[in-house]
Amino acid sequence: MTKAATTYLPDALPVPASDGDGLQAPFWSGLEREELLIQRCRHCRTWVFAPEWICHQCHSFDLDWTAVEPTGVIYSWTRVWHPVTPAIAEHMPYLVGVIELPQAGNVRLIGNLLGDPAKAVEIGARVRGVFEHHPAAADNPARKAFTLLQWTPA
Ligand SMILES: [Zn+2]
Repeated sequence: MTKAATTYLPDALPVPASDGDGLQAPFWSGLEREELLIQRCRHCRTWVFAPEWICHQCHSFDLDWTAVEPTGVIYSWTRVWHPVTPAIAEHMPYLVGVIELPQAGNVRLIGNLLGDPAKAVEIGARVRGVFEHHPAAADNPARKAFTLLQWTPA
């Protein structure tokens, strides 16, 4: 695991917010501690991501959070050329990957692929997680600290 020296994209992007019902809160607080937590059903042992209240396999409500190694393989990816917000207009292109976690039932997460945005990207390449910490904004009390999980070649 590596701590990013700077953020991959400008810090002017909207802050990822946990849903109001708290379902995703353990995932986000785990990232702050540099832990990747994925849900797992206590009843049938199925891995679940994105967070759910109920197991999609056996319909049990008995889901738990399990720390997994933040490593995976690139399942899919794209090079983004069009900014979704003016805040990143000067930072095109950038890379987004769908990362599969073999150690967690092959659940898939989305994150940025760090490094040269013009580089070749190989499906199936091994990657490791990088916890990118964003501090709270001193001039905006509404902007809390958060951590993103980005990916770099393993
Ligand atoms: Zn289950």
